[in-house]
Order: sequence, then structure tokens, then C-alpha cells
Amino acid sequence: MTFFLIVVFLFGLCIGSFLNVLIYRLPRGLDIAHGFSMCPTCQHRLYPLDLVPLFSWLFLGGKCRYCKAKISFIYPFVELLNGLLWVGMAMRFGLTVQALAYAIVASCLIVVAFTDWQHMEIPDSMSVVIALMGLVLLAADGSLPLSARIIGALCVSVPMALLALAGAMGGGDIKLMAALGLCLGWKLTLFTTFFGAVLGTLVFFLLFKTKAKLGRMIPFGTFLAIGGVCAVLFGDAFIGWYFGLLV
Ligand SMILES: [Zn+2]
Repeated sequence: MTFFLIVVFLFGLCIGSFLNVLIYRLPRGLDIAHGFSMCPTCQHRLYPLDLVPLFSWLFLGGKCRYCKAKISFIYPFVELLNGLLWVGMAMRFGLTVQALAYAIVASCLIVVAFTDWQHMEIPDSMSVVIALMGLVLLAADGSLPLSARIIGALCVSVPMALLALAGAMGGGDIKLMAALGLCLGWKLTLFTTFFGAVLGTLVFFLLFKTKAKLGRMIPFGTFLAIGGVCAVLFGDAFIGWYFGLLV
């Protein structure tokens, strides 16, 4: 099992490296399949030795090999986070199709979290991949019937669409929650939304206090993405514990 988890971790690191490409290129409308990686400061082409996930950054001391410009810790952080989440899904669901589907969902949510935070934008392609994983999960996981998934796809996205008519919600959030609902079913979709709203509110007030004014809109998608990952990993346990308290 340990060996299996190490392999999953290393594979997750590599996927994380690709997520960095998506986070950089998708909001800028750049081609994701072509063109080689380059240093954002000196535009020098990066070679495989510069691109080993996590380790290149550590080995080069967080600097570009060619121009010595500082490279944001966000890059290795995304790789590490994805590696850990892939391990988390493997530990939660074992060596199953379910684990792989949820790992891909988690990777998409990492992209959503960062693009929404940096650009206030949720790429449609990520919502499409998440929705496709919903179909994979429908086939692979019989414990959650189609009806629960359809209610999940609608229960948050429809109220959000009504809010959007009032100008209080972005279209990206609506599509994201419809896609996530298909994966999670209505219970965990509601969990995701409440978690995201509470976390978003907390962060909003913390930033408000320290930075005087945030000066921009709150990227709700970032918090929904964090909520979605937590829903997959801990949602069922939390709901069981919470309703156990009530009974
Ligand atoms: Zn450079």
C-alpha cells in the first residue's frame, strides 16, 4: 500500500505540473497543447531538468536557472497540493475508478481555485471535465443514484442562476456547481456550498480587517473549489457526525 501511495503521489506531482500550465494559459486564452514552457521573466526556454515537479524548484532555490529571477512558490505549491490530494483520494477510495475520477475532479478544482482567485474566472473546460467525471462516477459508483445526482446538479445552480439575474453571481460559479452536483449528489453539493460560503465570509472579513479594503469582488469559485474537495474527502463523515448530534 505504501509503495502504491508513493507512486500515486509522484504521478499527482506530474499532473500538478500540468495544472500550473493550465492555470497560466487558460485565463490568458493561450494554447495548452503546444508551445514549450518558458521562464515568465526572461522567456528562456525551460528544459526537462528545469521542470521536474517540486524538486527543480527546491534544487534551484526558487530561482530561474538562467536569469535568477524568483519563481513563485505557487508553482511547487500547486504540484505538492495535487500530489497530496491524489494520495488523499487513493486513501479514501482505494485503487478504484472512483478514486481516479475524484482525483481528476480535485485537479480541476485546483485550477478553478487559482484562476478564480487570480483572474476572477472559472474556465468552462474545467466544468466540462468535472461533469464528465460525474458520468464516470454514475457508472462506477452505484451508491449514488441518477436522481440524487440530477438534484445535486440543480439544487445550487438554479438558485445561483436566479441570483445571477440580479447580478450577484457569476456564470462560471453556476456551471461549476451544476457539474459538481453531478459528481457529488445533492447532500455533498449543499455541504460544498455552505462550506464555501462560510470560508469565503471568514476570509473576506480577515482580509477586510488587515488590508483596509479588498478592493475587488470575492472569488467565490475559489471557496467553492475548496469546499468541493473537502466534501469528497470528509463530507460524508461530517454529515454523519452532525446528524448524529441531532438525534
Ligand atoms: Zn528566467
